[in-house]
Amino acid sequence: MNILKLLSLTTSLLVVAACHSSEINARVERVPADPATDTPEPITHSFVADAGRYHFTLDSTAAPDLTEWAQTHLQPVVQEWYPRIVALLPSENWNPATHITLRFRTDMGGTPASAAGRFVNLNAAWFRRELQREALGAVVHELVHIVQNYSRTRRDDPQATRMPGWLVEGIADYIRWFLYEPETRGAEITAQNLPRARFDASYRITGNFLDWVTRHHDPDIVRKLNAAGRAGSYREELWTDSTGHTVQQLGEAWKAHHEQRLAKASPVP
Ligand SMILES: [Zn+2]
Repeated sequence: MNILKLLSLTTSLLVVAACHSSEINARVERVPADPATDTPEPITHSFVADAGRYHFTLDSTAAPDLTEWAQTHLQPVVQEWYPRIVALLPSENWNPATHITLRFRTDMGGTPASAAGRFVNLNAAWFRRELQREALGAVVHELVHIVQNYSRTRRDDPQATRMPGWLVEGIADYIRWFLYEPETRGAEITAQNLPRARFDASYRITGNFLDWVTRHHDPDIVRKLNAAGRAGSYREELWTDSTGHTVQQLGEAWKAHHEQRLAKASPVP
């Protein structure tokens, strides 16, 4: 083993990066591989956010080539947006996860990213393709799932209601597309997707619906829905209590709004 290899295996680097939202103490560790096994040399990188309140570990063992991108581009987004998402989705008697691991994986099939407990899984092959496009937004979406934490109450209370899946994904995409990256206009209702535009179509279409309800009926609707989901008390009456309209009525008005907007934008000759 040459001296450079030895140094790279045993040296811990202290990297201090700048970020406009919090001070960063980042540490890169390369732990020597165990010669008795085929296990690859772990590559982990630790950083904090919100003045040390939140701790993150970035594990790029499965994708060493993505280590630099993750530290340069992903880390600052996580540092800024995890505390923001926590602030957007508060509720009583709830504390957000404070130790979160983001790890690249090579066994996720066609799934770009997923979240479970305090882990965010990142599909290395998908990220390599999407570094300039959807990669950062996909992580923001998964961080929302970590903050939502909806399964917690249902484990403890058999009476708790289940948050509908379309709302779980709709809230994550609302925060991603309308608050994190509105300039990309990635969740617009267009002539192409208008036929599929139902309030409960999930993901970015429900995200568009939540943005519309937020702007036209109740600026607090996402916070209320999230708090109910986390408390295991979601029910459809929440929409009526908050806006005076059922979710179906809101869905029809939202769709009519887009139909009229699109008809105006391209009038039939
Ligand atoms: Zn999701």
